[in-house]
Amino acid sequence: MAPSEPRQTKFVLDESHIPRAWYNIVADLPVPPSPPLHPGTGQPIGPDDLAPLFPMALIGQEVSTEREIEIPEPVRDAYRLYRPSPLYRAHRLERALDTPAHIYYKYEGGSPSGSHKPNTAIAQAFFNKEQGVKRLATETGAGQWGSALAFAGAMFGLEVKVYMVRASYDQKPYRRILMETYGAEVVASPSLTTNYGRTVLAVTPDTPGSLGMAISEAVEDAATRDDTKYALGSVLNHVLLHQTVIGQEALEQMSMAGESPDIVIGCTGGGSNFAGLTFPFLGRNFRDGAKHRVIAAEPEAAPSLTRGVYAYDFGDTGKMTPLVKMYTLGSDFIPEPIHAGGLRYHGMSPLVSLLKQHDLIEARSVHQRSSFAAGVTFARAEGILPAPEPTHAIRVAIDEALAAKEAGESRVILFNLCGHGHFDLSAYEQYLAGTLEDYEYPLERVEAALAGLPQV
Ligand SMILES: *Cc1c(COP(=O)(O)O)cnc(C)c1O
Repeated sequence: MAPSEPRQTKFVLDESHIPRAWYNIVADLPVPPSPPLHPGTGQPIGPDDLAPLFPMALIGQEVSTEREIEIPEPVRDAYRLYRPSPLYRAHRLERALDTPAHIYYKYEGGSPSGSHKPNTAIAQAFFNKEQGVKRLATETGAGQWGSALAFAGAMFGLEVKVYMVRASYDQKPYRRILMETYGAEVVASPSLTTNYGRTVLAVTPDTPGSLGMAISEAVEDAATRDDTKYALGSVLNHVLLHQTVIGQEALEQMSMAGESPDIVIGCTGGGSNFAGLTFPFLGRNFRDGAKHRVIAAEPEAAPSLTRGVYAYDFGDTGKMTPLVKMYTLGSDFIPEPIHAGGLRYHGMSPLVSLLKQHDLIEARSVHQRSSFAAGVTFARAEGILPAPEPTHAIRVAIDEALAAKEAGESRVILFNLCGHGHFDLSAYEQYLAGTLEDYEYPLERVEAALAGLPQV
C-alpha cells in the first residue's frame, strides 16, 4: 500500500448481514449453569413460577440449550433502523498512544436511544406483544434501559411504566424527558404506587433509591396486574442472548479487516453488552480452540467479579426475585453514586459469573477518574464521546495497548463502545473541573451485605 493511501477506518455491513439467529452460549459451555431457585422453597424454579413476569417465548429462551435461536422477522426489521452497527479501527488513538497494537471498537451508540440496550428491548417488546401483553413495567438507573424500552414500546404499541431511581430522576431530567417523549410513564423510585415503595419511604423518606429497590417495585407492579409483564435490561440469560448480534457482526467485520482479536473487552454492569460482544468469540474458543483472551472491565465502586463471592443471591433489594448463582456483593449493598450508573449493581449475570468462576474470562476493576481520563483521550482522538460505562472498557483497552508498546509486540484489541455520552455531560464537566471523586472499595459495607446472603 502506498504511504499516502488512507487506511480503512470503518467496517460496514449492509442490512442483509443482520444476524438471522441469536447465539446461545449455553450450548457450548464446558460446565452447565446452576438453576435459579425459588426464594421460598429453595427448589429450582419452573416456567410456571416465571409466567406472571415474562411471556412464554422469553421463558423458553431463558432455559434453552439450543445453540441458535431464530430472530423473528419483525425484530430484524426494527434492527434495520440501526443495525448492522459499524466497527472502527482506532488509527488515531493508536497514533496518540504511539502503540504497535491494533485497536478496534464496535460502536453501539448509533441506536435510537444511544446504547446497545434496544437490541433486547425490541425483542422483549415483540415477544410480549405477540402474547397479547398490553403493558410493561421496568426499572431504570441513569435512564439508558428505560429509554430503550420506551422506544421499543412505541415501536410495538405497548404501554411502558418506568420506575426511575430517585437520584437520577432528580439530577438527570433529560433521559426522563426522552422516555416521556417516546410515550412512557416515569415515576421516581421508591414511589408511593407500590407496597414495597411505600414500605421503604415510611422508614427512609429521603432515600436516593437504588437499582435493587426499583427492580422490586417493577416486579411487584407486573406480578399484581394481569395486563402487565416485567422487562429486565440485563443479567438474565435471554437478555444476554439478544445482545449477541453485536459479537456476530463483529466476527464478520474483523475478518473484513483481515485480523482476529487477541483480546476482547467489555464493561460489565449486569453483563449484557460484555456478553453481546464476547460470547460469539468465546464460542470460537470452546468449539474451535481459538484463543481470544476476554476481559470484563468493572468499576472499583461495585466490583462484583473481582471482589464479590460466587453464591446464590437475590437480584433485588426487596428480596422478591428468584435466587440466582452469581458473583455478588450482597443484595443489600448499594454502590456509591458513580457516574457510570449502568455499572452500579450488586450482582453479575449468572452466565458471566460462571465463566469467571471457571477462569474462562478475566476481570479487572477500574476507578472512575482513570476511566474518564481514558474517555477523554478517546474522544480527542476518535471524536465519539463515550458514555461513562464504556470508558471502563476503554481504560483496559488503552492499558493493554500501552503494555504492548512496553513489550514491543503487536497485539490486536477489540472493545465494545456500547453507548455515547451525550446525556452525561455533567459528569464530564465535573471531570474537566477536577471535582470528580474516586470511591475506595467499601470493604466493611460489602462484608455487612454479604453477611445477609440467603442460606441455600
Ligand atoms: C446499561 C448500560 C451498561 C451496563 O449494562 P450491561 O448489562 O453490563 O451492559 C453499560 N453501558 C451502557 C452504555 C449502558 O446503557
